[in-house]
Amino acid sequence: MFLKLRSALLATAAVTVAAPVVAEEVNVYSYRQPELIAPLTDAFTAQTGIDVNVVHLSDGMVERLQAEGDRSPADLVFTVDISRLNAVVEAGLTQSVESDVLNANIPAQYRDPDGQWFGLTTRARIVYASRDRVADGEVTTYEDLADPRWEGRICIRSGTNAYNVALTSAMIEHHGEEGAREWLTGLRGNLARAPEGNDRAQVKAIWAGECDISIGNTYYMGKMLSNEEQREWADSVRIVFPTFENGGTHVNVSGVAMTAASPNQDNALALMEFLSSPEAQEIYAHANFEYPIADGTEPAELVQGWGEFTADDVNLMTLARLRGDALRITEEVDFDAGN
Ligand code: FE
Repeated sequence: MFLKLRSALLATAAVTVAAPVVAEEVNVYSYRQPELIAPLTDAFTAQTGIDVNVVHLSDGMVERLQAEGDRSPADLVFTVDISRLNAVVEAGLTQSVESDVLNANIPAQYRDPDGQWFGLTTRARIVYASRDRVADGEVTTYEDLADPRWEGRICIRSGTNAYNVALTSAMIEHHGEEGAREWLTGLRGNLARAPEGNDRAQVKAIWAGECDISIGNTYYMGKMLSNEEQREWADSVRIVFPTFENGGTHVNVSGVAMTAASPNQDNALALMEFLSSPEAQEIYAHANFEYPIADGTEPAELVQGWGEFTADDVNLMTLARLRGDALRITEEVDFDAGN
């Protein structure tokens, strides 16, 4: 359809000369790494003739979109973490997208009821346990990580990191603010060192003997295994899928939203629908060792090998809503001071 449209434009241009031919394009602001997105955008361009321009941002997406206002070239935003998606929505920078294709491909729990954002992949926040020093079955719940028997044995990144804030938000939903505060306090008391570094740095610390378990996202196992230096770290641990005592394993999403000022709405919708297709979800998920979410899709074989789990059923919007409370109690218990 787009090719036909373009030749029609070309024909018109040839006659009138004056009107410049505008290339079909869609512009993306992305917190996600370019190498994760390139295979998808290349496939989309090959299929539709629509160019995809990706601006990779490491921070400040909301501020940038606000500053650009109605003149923003951005059509879509790509990000991980429900609170980051929600921050763009809450700032009034997205628009509602109504699409039977998106609604059919993306399960209801992974998209906004009003179409302001759509999840594309999920990742679980799990326990990395030392193969040598932690027995099978020793860790089963998130709550248990606050038990004094883990004293001096846990490593974790900053409590204010988005991944940990989402986990704490889920803890608030399951046990109330007081319960979550007690959990954070107990967890802090079990830390082998004050929080520092990223998720992979915690696994390195297990490998180095500094601690026995850490909390991290699933896909980092795949990333470490693909990295010559980090493979030893990965080999020193196994993945355990803890659950909440009254729930499942904590998951978060990567997702997409259409900007309020999108200048290329039709192309943006075409890219969203393409990304939601089961085939594209698998390409996207496999590129970063994540989980696709459409019915009938499968994670990569390596990821399947880590085992099965039941995702916690706390609503993602609830996690976003509780973000402020989670951050506040994390600071109140002085989590990042460590033990
Ligand atoms: Fe990450």
